[in-house]
Amino acid sequence: MKLRLAAWLTMLIMLFGGCSAIREAERNLFLMDTTISLRVFGDNADAALTEIAERLSVFDRDFSHVRDDGELYRINNRENQTVDITDEMSDILTTAKKYAEETRGAFDPTIAPAVKLWGIGTENPRVPEEAELRALLPYIDYRKIDISEKKLTLPRGFSINLGAIAKGYASDDARRVLDKHGIGSAVLSLGGNVYARGARPDGTPWRVGVRDPEGTENDILGIIEAEDKYIISSGDYERYFERSGARYHHILDPKTAAPADNSLRAVVIVCDEGARGDAYSTALFVMGYDAALEFWREKRDFEAVFVLKDNRVVVTEGIAESFSQRNESGRYTYETAKR
Ligand code: AMP
Ligand code: MG
Repeated sequence: MKLRLAAWLTMLIMLFGGCSAIREAERNLFLMDTTISLRVFGDNADAALTEIAERLSVFDRDFSHVRDDGELYRINNRENQTVDITDEMSDILTTAKKYAEETRGAFDPTIAPAVKLWGIGTENPRVPEEAELRALLPYIDYRKIDISEKKLTLPRGFSINLGAIAKGYASDDARRVLDKHGIGSAVLSLGGNVYARGARPDGTPWRVGVRDPEGTENDILGIIEAEDKYIISSGDYERYFERSGARYHHILDPKTAAPADNSLRAVVIVCDEGARGDAYSTALFVMGYDAALEFWREKRDFEAVFVLKDNRVVVTEGIAESFSQRNESGRYTYETAKR
């Protein structure tokens, strides 16, 4: 009897000791124009986190369209049409072009001149004249991006903005760092881009909130339970300014060079790759609800939550089971979209 009790006690201590021994490393940063929070669990948590943070600060410099010391700035201020680019830049531009093709230009990294003209998120945003927007349209066309090996050719007047894909791309890069350090559990949040690595240390799934576009940063309208997934959001609440009662947000329709204006307020993508999720969340927001749902039916490699202006929340059937409603405001009605 005594022996058994001792064995039990030892086991309990081992279990308890085992749990408390899981190392956690945590860091909050402001990079890539957004708040970043990194939580990494496991023996190599500190080393992994340090490496991820270092990589993020390189991306912050090289993928920025405002910093004047990075690679994208050098590309956008090039003198010749053809410039040498790094492997990393070649990789992200190739990826961006692929998703621009897939989404038929709803996501388009050559949107840069329009982003600059509106100045959304800067201190001096403004509503441009129709004629100014029209004049930009010939300079928005991802098909003009030509990458061969380590050279980029881009016609004069064209420039690149990676704002809609860089954070997702960075979270894919972080996944490889976690792989290298043998990390099984982590949650990385880069603005609206969350990478839920493995399960939580206690074995239960990560729980990621879907933001209520009407509320503050902490208000949610649902929770997605996820393991080993990217949960990536785009919405009209993220960055915008208001003039004469109208809201001008930061997701622009490449066809008009103006903020996308349709029945959507937010799109959340759940998938297995950060860059894809990031490009899709922006693209589906631009496409509008009907075309976005069609795209989901066609693609089959992601799931989504759509928040519509009429307060409907539509969850695609592949994640219906892992989605739970949080409707404190009573504003929303929920539905499931079938294939
Ligand atoms: P996201 O928050 O991922 O939806 O990305 C929005 C950011 O990407 C904006 O702040 C712009 O810098 C840029 N952007 C806006 N519209 C587009 C678009 N249609 N395609 C690609 N990038 C865009
Ligand atoms: Mg995006």
